Amino acid sequence: MKLTEILNSGKISLSFEVFPPKTDTAFESVKLATEEIAKLRPSFMSVTYGAGGGTSKYTLDIAKDIKENYGVPTLAHLTCVSSTRETVHEKIEAIKAAGVSNVMALRGDLTPELEGKDRCGWAYRHAVDLIRELKESGADFCIGGACYPEIHPESANQKEDIKYLKEKVDAGCEFLTTQMFFDNNLLYNFLYKIREAGITVPIVAGIMPITNANQVERAIKLSGSFMPHRFKSLVDKFGSDPDAMKQAGIAYATDQIIDLFANNITNVHVYSMNKPDVAEKIMANLSDMIGK
Ligand code: FAD
Repeated sequence: MKLTEILNSGKISLSFEVFPPKTDTAFESVKLATEEIAKLRPSFMSVTYGAGGGTSKYTLDIAKDIKENYGVPTLAHLTCVSSTRETVHEKIEAIKAAGVSNVMALRGDLTPELEGKDRCGWAYRHAVDLIRELKESGADFCIGGACYPEIHPESANQKEDIKYLKEKVDAGCEFLTTQMFFDNNLLYNFLYKIREAGITVPIVAGIMPITNANQVERAIKLSGSFMPHRFKSLVDKFGSDPDAMKQAGIAYATDQIIDLFANNITNVHVYSMNKPDVAEKIMANLSDMIGK
């Protein structure tokens, strides 16, 4: 099933993200965790490609398992930075063979090893190059891309960031998932600007439930996200008590999601980080709203 059928329906959707194992030996435990999340029957699940500490080796295996054995539509992530054309062609063929029809086309992060390298010889320098490749592959993929309500860290300014975002949509990107954010006003402001720039595809709001204090620093480092005072107070108060922090983090994410739904942002993606207990609690908090 193409995700645009869900995302364009006007009904509330809730989806979860998982990441592949870091090592081969962790495969079974990650598969079990992702299956527990699939049993919650989210609107769809995405499987990252090498992000969140996972490798890219098992992205398709996990996406295929969830789709075939649990009937949950899946979105396979794919990155292209510094990849050769041959490698990307092989990956595209593998996605086709796995019967996965939804692909999140990403550039990927510039790791410290890549930062200093001369990029002139790269076959793919930006996500838009991968989107064009996917369109030219002849497969009828539903393609998604990433967007940044708080501006991508490499962008000079938001105007430039949105200009390149529009280029991705014009190249064939049919929906956009946001980087995590902790203040919904940032998303509302961003939406206003992208709609004004002529970007009309569905936006999927990415929400990260922060369930332990260490995650806060990592989240800021990874995304540069602004942490509202209300959120910081919650970490100050409960950060040293793991159970209380988890409960407070889930409540904060739930509150954020309900506010999004109430403001007609119907598609929300939860960065559930292979944590079935967190996904289950969020699903339970929202179950009667999904599909409305
Ligand atoms: P791009 O769209 O290429 O943008 C990167 C930067 O280049 C931006 O500053 C943009 O404005 C600029 N730019 C874009 N096009 C052009 C152009 N034509 N000319 C000049 N400048 C341009 N990483 C992983 O490794 N694996 C994952 O599975 C993964 N999943 C993600 C899912 C989501 C929803 C998000 C938000 C991020 C994810 N990431 C993942 C991280 C992502 O790879 C990084 O944020 C990366 O730095 C940028 O990827 P992009 O696809 O947004 O790149």
